[in-house]
Amino acid sequence: MFVFWNQAKNVKRKDNPIKLMRQCGQCNKSAMFFECEKTDEFKLYGAIALKFDRTTVMQCGECLAVYKAEDDPDVQKHMEHRKQAEDAAQAKESERAEAERRREEAKRQEEIRKKEAKKQKEIDDELADLKRELGQ
Ligand SMILES: [Zn+2]
Repeated sequence: MFVFWNQAKNVKRKDNPIKLMRQCGQCNKSAMFFECEKTDEFKLYGAIALKFDRTTVMQCGECLAVYKAEDDPDVQKHMEHRKQAEDAAQAKESERAEAERRREEAKRQEEIRKKEAKKQKEIDDELADLKRELGQ
């Protein structure tokens, strides 16, 4: 069971949250728990926000009680899976970017080569003209 923390306050459900079925210690129901982000503000004179602490919590879908999530092995397992999926996606993206970069570079080199070939041809033509003129 999760470690009960407190009632919902400054709690926002995450996009694509981790979901777990658990017995809730507060409402005693078997409920779906959702991964949320809890933001705690530390205020100066109760007015100026000094700093924000963001914590991942699991929230009971029934009574909205909030539980600490980070120490929970099941949540950690889910987070680990998600991180692996993200890393894999990241690696794929870098690979794609690298292939793109290589393609761009090859194109650039090809353009330089063409330009040089064209310049060389112009020189050759000029020389040929010159020779023709001299030959007359
Ligand atoms: Zn509950």
